Amino acid sequence: EIDIAGLTKRFGTNTVLDGIDLCLKPGERVAIIGPSGTGKSTLLRCLNWLDAPDAGRITLGDLSVDAAHATRAQILALRRRTGFVFQNYALFANKTARQNITEGLTTVRGWSQAKAAARADEILAQIGLADRGDSYPSAMSGGQQQRVGIGRAMALDADLLLFDEPTSALDPEWVGEVLDLIRSIADGRQTMLIVTHEMQFAREIADRIVFMDGGRIVEQGPPAQIFGDPQDDRTRAFLRRVG
Ligand code: ATP
Ligand code: MG
Repeated sequence: EIDIAGLTKRFGTNTVLDGIDLCLKPGERVAIIGPSGTGKSTLLRCLNWLDAPDAGRITLGDLSVDAAHATRAQILALRRRTGFVFQNYALFANKTARQNITEGLTTVRGWSQAKAAARADEILAQIGLADRGDSYPSAMSGGQQQRVGIGRAMALDADLLLFDEPTSALDPEWVGEVLDLIRSIADGRQTMLIVTHEMQFAREIADRIVFMDGGRIVEQGPPAQIFGDPQDDRTRAFLRRVG
């Protein structure tokens, strides 16, 4: 079980996360939706400590990290248990697809090159890029690059996969293949937290929808409820705008 309690983040005087409480069941897929500037990316980044939260606690199984006195070792352990898929792929431009996947395995996991390369080839097959292991990002389509980004996160076998708008930087023609890949890995093994503006995708893939506004969770529930019968005016206004 993953438990987020009172997570708070400020940038200067701007409180971007205002005490987020969220509990995720193992294997659960949760989609986060909400207006721009509401703190969705910041929430994901805090969960991976890419941004250090100012207050709150993140518990992942037997690991519990309190923002007030997080140790370096706890932060590294948290990073080992979370995989992050970035909007703009964030691949290493000077590394091949295979090397982008092995990088985390050798540095974060401490695996040998040979073991990491074998795992990378397994992953390349899973993401439909078995023949592109030696390609550099610049030689791949946006869709292929994002599939490598997802493969890199998958390879780490993290407890929690974090997706920050994984398709929003893609040309429309590549969106489908990336959503298909995410669907195919959503097999209930890894818990997934997905920030997306693809409402149809959220409705179809998520067990639960979380609507955020102004750094808070305003409303959450099963897709049928949030999309079919939203309770809060802000949720209704947002869905009218995007739908
Ligand atoms: P979008 O849908 O546009 O991606 P979001 O919900 O992901 O929006 P965040 O990126 O989390 O929103 O940003 C929330 C707020 O925090 C915004 O007001 C943003 O300007 C601010 N913010 C984010 N990162 C920083 C930073 N590094 N320094 C200062 N302010 C920041
Ligand atoms: Mg964002």
